[in-house]
Amino acid sequence: MKEEKSKRTKKYKRHFNTNLIKWNLSYSTQEIAELLGTTVNTVCAWYKTGLQKNDKNIPHLVFGRNLIEFLNYKNKKRKKKCEDGSFFCFKCQKIQTAWENSVDIEIMDAKRMRISGLCERCNSKVNKVFNTKKLNDCQKIFAVQVIRNKHLLG
Ligand SMILES: [Zn+2]
Repeated sequence: MKEEKSKRTKKYKRHFNTNLIKWNLSYSTQEIAELLGTTVNTVCAWYKTGLQKNDKNIPHLVFGRNLIEFLNYKNKKRKKKCEDGSFFCFKCQKIQTAWENSVDIEIMDAKRMRISGLCERCNSKVNKVFNTKKLNDCQKIFAVQVIRNKHLLG
């Protein structure tokens, strides 16, 4: 009977509940695995795909806020490709849209641009970095107010 249960819980988890994570705590790899009901191996794989560790010390520790951001990105990526009008708001600890969908775009270099707006719920600054190839798409998604440093695109 025991075996049957573990078989069921072994099913690959596609969506991780970020509400379980406290944004101001640090977690070890083992703690993350237990908290989210996944394996240490899975968490190690996340380090390679973008989950940010606090530093290079062993054992690794991860800030809750970095974990939340990573999982939200991951959860979201599965739904859409993150090329929609939403941002992760650190204050709300949630994915939000920008107030009136209004954003400024700052071209950082030929490849990267920062899109920033205000969280529609708490009015905090929200931003994310996109590839400049998405500039045209972004102009369709957002009400773009200002594009700074457009000359950097050459
Ligand atoms: Zn907010």
